[in-house]
Amino acid sequence: MIAPQDKDYIVIVQCHLAKQRCSGFACEIAFHERSGGFAEYAKDKAYRTLHITCGGCCGRALNGKLSQIVRKLKKMQKIEKEQIVVQLSSCIATHNFHGPACQHLDYLKTLIAQAGLDVREGTWINELSVKRREQGRYA
Ligand code: SF4
Ligand code: SF4
Repeated sequence: MIAPQDKDYIVIVQCHLAKQRCSGFACEIAFHERSGGFAEYAKDKAYRTLHITCGGCCGRALNGKLSQIVRKLKKMQKIEKEQIVVQLSSCIATHNFHGPACQHLDYLKTLIAQAGLDVREGTWINELSVKRREQGRYA
């Protein structure tokens, strides 16, 4: 996997269900600050970003979305899939106050791998959720 700082294009995938009540603002803050799941990205690099959702359970729509992204970025922007990374939001990857981690997480990762893309987990890190996971209240 190419290191995060060497990627050029970040596809941030968020939980479709969580996005029905969340604007995704905390994910944007985390990226802007290069904190949480974005801590390893270069602070002074102007990455291209795209925020999408999985499309709803079971996440199968991600297959078509990622295929289009890979195809269109190559054709229209000369961006190869090796330059792209998928960042799964914290509401997909971890148990937090929105609910348990996505039960289709492995399936989503399979779809991402089939698209030939690297994947990373986590975006905004909520301190209270971290504490509750440490306490065993969250899985
Ligand atoms: S991680 Fe948080 S801010 Fe980002 S989409 Fe999920 S619920 Fe919203
Ligand atoms: S498949 Fe997972 S990430 Fe997508 S809507 Fe369902 S619970 Fe959320």
